Amino acid sequence: MQDQPERVLSTGLSPAKSEAGGLSHVSGKTVVCGVIGDPVEHTMSPAMQNAAFRALGLDFAYVPFKVTREELRVAIAGMRALNIRGLNITIPHKVAVLPFLDSVDPLAKKIGAVNTIVSNGTTLTGYNTDAGGFIQPLLERGFELRDSRVLVIGAGGAARAVAFALIEGGARVVVLNRTPDRAHELARHLSQHTPGRAEGGELNNDNLFEAMSNTVLVVNTTSVGMGTPEGQSPIPSAFLRRDILVYDIVYNPLKTRLISEAQAAGCRTIAGAEMLAWQGALAFERFTGIKAPIELMKQQVVRSLTE
Ligand code: NAP
Repeated sequence: MQDQPERVLSTGLSPAKSEAGGLSHVSGKTVVCGVIGDPVEHTMSPAMQNAAFRALGLDFAYVPFKVTREELRVAIAGMRALNIRGLNITIPHKVAVLPFLDSVDPLAKKIGAVNTIVSNGTTLTGYNTDAGGFIQPLLERGFELRDSRVLVIGAGGAARAVAFALIEGGARVVVLNRTPDRAHELARHLSQHTPGRAEGGELNNDNLFEAMSNTVLVVNTTSVGMGTPEGQSPIPSAFLRRDILVYDIVYNPLKTRLISEAQAAGCRTIAGAEMLAWQGALAFERFTGIKAPIELMKQQVVRSLTE
């Protein structure tokens, strides 16, 4: 019994979990991937990616790395030196990492943020799978984006990828944000870098009511609603109409207050866990060159969020 704590410390897992958790397969040939961020402790990516590697029998392992802003440059140099195949990039590095890469995929360049880096052994290329991860659940439902009016609430980091994905799909986008300058800036950036048009404005009840009255899809990209199911909603429930598709990218809790109220109003809904699984699946495909087991990755996200 006495050496138990030491074994727990050395692996970070209980002995029972360590055996079941898949570390036993790691060999001299194992391909290493990971996620860098600060904080990184709550990431669900290792559980999701390792479950996918295991399911397909791939000799890959995925680990979290806590990297501060000051250490970002060294961390990316370390990725090269250690021959790490791929990294996901999370808060606060998605923009700051750009100058350290050899090339950036055109969509990620337009968005101005990278959440996936892949090494081919000599060069590091940056991608943004948040945009594709956001769009996939809409495509799965056969949602017609072209010429549809879409309201995006929020103008932070995630909103950029979401708005670009929507506008690239042909949607007409209105961005409303608590800090209106950020909404105007994002709308301007979208209009400059895409053939589509976007408008920005302040997130207040008047603008929200007007935008909701002629939208077919509303996307919450703010952090409002994060934390608990009883949390807040960015949209007054009286504004929800049954013909609107409500997409909340907040994934924790699995069912936010906005999603609950939208379902009560008869709306179709998409919860953030789907985007989370899809952005991971698209990163997996970049790392491995193999089609991702998306259903398994969705199940793993739900499991991680309900544990
Ligand atoms: P961020 O860059 O910090 O942006 C936060 C946004 O929320 C800003 O627009 C901010 O408005 C707004 N906001 C914050 N508190 C607010 C309040 N009380 N009332 C109104 N607006 C408020 O964060 P982010 O990286 O974009 O992430 C936003 C959310 O998306 C988080 O919950 C994150 O977990 C989630 N997310 C999900 C996925 C996924 O795969 N499902 C991917 C990425 C992010 P101001 O500009 O006025 O501050």
